[in-house]
Amino acid sequence: MTSELRELYQQIILDHNRAPRNFREVEGANRVAQGYNPLCGDKLQVSLRVDDASVIEDIGFQGSGCAISKAAASLMTEAVKGKTTKQAEDLFEDFHRMVTDAGDEPDSKKLGKLAAFSGVKQFPARVKCASLSWHTLRAAIENVAVPISTE
Ligand code: ZN
Repeated sequence: MTSELRELYQQIILDHNRAPRNFREVEGANRVAQGYNPLCGDKLQVSLRVDDASVIEDIGFQGSGCAISKAAASLMTEAVKGKTTKQAEDLFEDFHRMVTDAGDEPDSKKLGKLAAFSGVKQFPARVKCASLSWHTLRAAIENVAVPISTE
């Protein structure tokens, strides 16, 4: 990674931490889940409104956590809004591959701004912070009633 790219990625994360997008509860949400990362103390709630065609019409998150978890949740909501739940889960697969560096190269074109978290794989303790909102999103899509934990 070039230092320019690293700088850009850092800016994206700082920006989304300072001004998180979709930081609210979704009106008329029909999918909600809570996620907890005990390793760091990140606690999130993700709410969605999914229409009959499985399209995520609206999504928001609330909670508290470190800069990485907040920025990741903010970018996650932007990335999946307007997508189908299946597309959102596919994107999670790619994101997860990128931050854990497991298996094939992730599709960087598909990841877009989410690539800002590609450096996280060098910090194993941070991987859970970066992926908490995604795990919570998946729990919400699958209507898991109990809070999920990264442990
Ligand atoms: Zn964290």
